[in-house]
Amino acid sequence: MRKKYTTKFIQFLTHDCEQVTSQISLAHEQPLTLLQQLRLYVHRKMCKRCEQFYQNDKKLSEMIEQHKHK
Ligand SMILES: [Zn+2]
Repeated sequence: MRKKYTTKFIQFLTHDCEQVTSQISLAHEQPLTLLQQLRLYVHRKMCKRCEQFYQNDKKLSEMIEQHKHK
């Protein structure tokens, strides 16, 4: 595959960091579509910063959930 083509394909499959972080936050209020979930997943595999953000967000929401049940 040519490089230009690959980049376009990756851009189709993933968001930029700003979109990813805002969707991770948004996911608390509304469920993401399958395509959105896929794009988040692909992006997280390629981007350490967003993976870190996702993990922190997950931990935080787990803590909030646990707090609610007490
Ligand atoms: Zn990112």
